[in-house]
Amino acid sequence: MPSDTTDNSIADKRVLITGGGSGIGADLARAFANAGAQVIIAGRTEAKLQQIAALHAKIDYRIADVTDAASVTALFADCDSLDIVIANAGAASSAPLRKTSLEDWQRMLDVNLTGVFLTLQAGLAKLSDGGRLMAVASTAGLKGYPYVAPYCAAKHGVIGLVRALAQETAKQGITVNALCPGFTETPLLDESLANISAKTGLSEAQARAQLTATNPQGRLIQPSDVSATALWLASPHAQAITGQAIAIAGGEL
Ligand code: NAP
Repeated sequence: MPSDTTDNSIADKRVLITGGGSGIGADLARAFANAGAQVIIAGRTEAKLQQIAALHAKIDYRIADVTDAASVTALFADCDSLDIVIANAGAASSAPLRKTSLEDWQRMLDVNLTGVFLTLQAGLAKLSDGGRLMAVASTAGLKGYPYVAPYCAAKHGVIGLVRALAQETAKQGITVNALCPGFTETPLLDESLANISAKTGLSEAQARAQLTATNPQGRLIQPSDVSATALWLASPHAQAITGQAIAIAGGEL
């Protein structure tokens, strides 16, 4: 297909984004709404969702907890058919493995892996043929980082899930892909910086410089870098791209 720079293929698509009240999910919501899509964002905190929904007439919100199967079922029961579902909700915590409790391990798997399973499974049931499923994984799904073993394990799991589901849906023209950002400027990163600073005695600026140095381009990833990739994956130009884990990481991988 020749490339078309005046592509309006996203217009009027119905998109659901979990974790849309902040960070990457909020940017995805704005980017898809600006491209003409009808967007539903979901998360647990109504005030944050309301704030993002107020930015654009095409963004609506629902309260849902992706770790709770009944909540995810109710979220999708309330939607008409969908064209694009993005499992973006996630959380991070850090500790050396020997100080990681079973509870911490389980919490990371619940939100970052089971939450994606529940979202993609329910999303698939509502997806039009030719639809798009995406998960926001991480470079932590493709390589190891110290002190975040449960997060890394969960994100590696997301990539396995995406690769398997892509095989199941290929004949329906549905694509399934993982977006793998490196360190990205969001509230989650701010939390990680505060945590590193508290545990190491580095200032937050020093901690930020350390994380920035992992990116060969010498910059933190911006949520808009992730949104641009998601918009491309949602377009007809990416019909042949499925089962991929796409690093958005300035060459870190
Ligand atoms: P963020 O601003 O903290 O956003 C995470 C969102 O997920 C929040 O809006 C949060 O809202 C929602 N959420 C958390 N637990 C949830 C649950 N149980 N049910 C429903 N929603 C839930 O962080 P972010 O950086 O944008 O993270 C988005 C995704 O990108 C995550 O999957 C993260 O792992 C991934 N990622 C981030 C980075 C980074 O450096 N920032 C790098 C690579 C990948 P509520 O708390 O209100 O529910």
